[in-house]
Parts: sequence; C-alpha cells; structure tokens
Amino acid sequence: MYLDVTQCIGCGGCLMVCPAEALRRMPDGTMRINTVRCRQCGVCADACPTGAMTRDGERKEVPK
Ligand code: SF4
Ligand code: SF4
Repeated sequence: MYLDVTQCIGCGGCLMVCPAEALRRMPDGTMRINTVRCRQCGVCADACPTGAMTRDGERKEVPK
C-alpha cells in the first residue's frame, strides 16, 4: 500500500475498515501503515475519500 500523507485528511475511514489493525493515527492526524501487519487487502484504499491511500502500482502520475 502507498499512503500520500499530503492528501490524508485524517478522516479515519481507513482505520475503521482495516481488518489487521495495521493503521495508526499520528499526532498530526495523518495515518501511518504498519507494513508488517498490513495484508495488502486494499480495503483502506477503497475507503479513502481523498485518494491518499492507494495500492502500489496504482498511483496516479504526479507532475514533477
Ligand atoms: S491494505 Fe488492508 S491490512 Fe493493509 S492497511 Fe489497508 S486495510 Fe489494513
Ligand atoms: S481514509 Fe484516506 S484521508 Fe482518511 S485517514 Fe485514511 S488515508 Fe487519510
């Protein structure tokens, strides 16, 4: 999974749906992925309203 913290609004949607307790809220409100716990199920990406959370390889091209 890939998390763009600049797009994360800290809504907690991913946190609510993660079946592996792999997500953690940081003091600034953004999320972090525990890559050891993460099962790559992709549920969090589906739940994310801003596109901050994406499956690896599905990232949109970001202009440089
Ligand atoms: S891919 Fe699945 S296990 Fe990993 S952080 Fe997202 S919801 Fe949790
Ligand atoms: S669902 Fe998306 S915007 Fe909301 S906390 Fe998770 S990563 Fe951030």
